[in-house]
Amino acid sequence: MSNRLIDFANSELASIQGAGTYKRERLILGSQSATIQTQEGAGNATKKITAINLCANNYLGLANDQRLIDAAKRALDSHGFGMASVRFICGTQDLHKTLEQELASYLKTDDAIVFPSCFDANGGIFEVLLGPEDAVISDELNHASIIDGIRLCKAKRFRYRNNDMASLEENLKNAQSARHRLVVTDGVFSMDGIVADLPAIVALAERYDAMVMVDDCHATGFMGGRGSGTAEHHNVEGRVQLISGTFGKALGGASGGFIAGPAPIVDLLKQRARSYLFSNAVAPAICSASLQALQIAASQSGVLARERINTNAERFRSALTEAGFQLVPGEHAIIPVMIGDAALAARLADELLCMGVYVIAFSYPVVPDGKARIRTQMSAAHTADQLDTAIEAFIKAGKKFGIIS
Ligand SMILES: *Cc1c(COP(=O)(O)O)cnc(C)c1O
Repeated sequence: MSNRLIDFANSELASIQGAGTYKRERLILGSQSATIQTQEGAGNATKKITAINLCANNYLGLANDQRLIDAAKRALDSHGFGMASVRFICGTQDLHKTLEQELASYLKTDDAIVFPSCFDANGGIFEVLLGPEDAVISDELNHASIIDGIRLCKAKRFRYRNNDMASLEENLKNAQSARHRLVVTDGVFSMDGIVADLPAIVALAERYDAMVMVDDCHATGFMGGRGSGTAEHHNVEGRVQLISGTFGKALGGASGGFIAGPAPIVDLLKQRARSYLFSNAVAPAICSASLQALQIAASQSGVLARERINTNAERFRSALTEAGFQLVPGEHAIIPVMIGDAALAARLADELLCMGVYVIAFSYPVVPDGKARIRTQMSAAHTADQLDTAIEAFIKAGKKFGIIS
């Protein structure tokens, strides 16, 4: 019996710990919500803490919404627990079909395909669409799932500087000899909350005969007037041909991802995408609750939730700016508070938790060296009082550590 790989794992773990980048998973006691319960310490010294949660992707506040819970329960009774099959063998129910249709109609695309996750959607699409004669032109800050999906295809790879249109144009020029070109970008870059410059991207893609794919995981459900995402937000709906996204963030936060776009591409993905063909169907209860989430996002209740996200983001941004914190400017519900030093950011996060505000510090290699930050995320579920409490805590802790005066 060889233990060499166990030794390898131990030495890797030691070096991760040595670098200070070992990730500990905090236990959330109970459900995901505007406030959460967690515990600090170990053994007999554990202490329960109730904290305002500023680090979930729970933008519309639906993760613990009674309407979604009821929809999931109804589907458990009517459609059972699991499918025990992939979609193309015996894993497709009416709920899967309805979810795809409703999604396409919400996003104003021809059709849509639901994957087990958006990681799988991005992992599966490139290999199906692009061969060695083709080119994929990808933003350097794109999500890991896009990077991995591109690795699985044989297309020529071009990488442009983050949201930099001169760099995109140069790459498009260099890719002119390819048979087909696909430009791919995150709709929102999650570490900064910066929205991709879609008007310029679609204009360049049209000029250089390329298709555009946007990963709208941090936008579907809450950006744009109807909440349909960054294309709507930027008024370029219909000019972004492929949209990938998730049910695991604003739309209830359980799981499931998708690609929405032209019917022939969706159909081809159902024939060939390996992460779709060879992975289990999304559970019926999740389909049913996701349908409910889409309905809410498209209704007046969605309009009000989007207003609350925006009001909350403005409140938090302006109060922290006024207090002297350095934020990444923008308009998204992701609001990074820039600290710089990694150890200081970590200490600030710990202090805030003790004060009842749950935030996470991000540092190198997740963000550039020397640009450590606390990434806060606003939710429609946060009340003004909760945000004011969080703002007060930031100011108190910021002064204590000399980050603001
Ligand atoms: C969260 C996220 C994903 C992964 O989505 P899952 O459905 O959780 O797999 C992919 N792309 C981006 C940009 C994301 O933020």
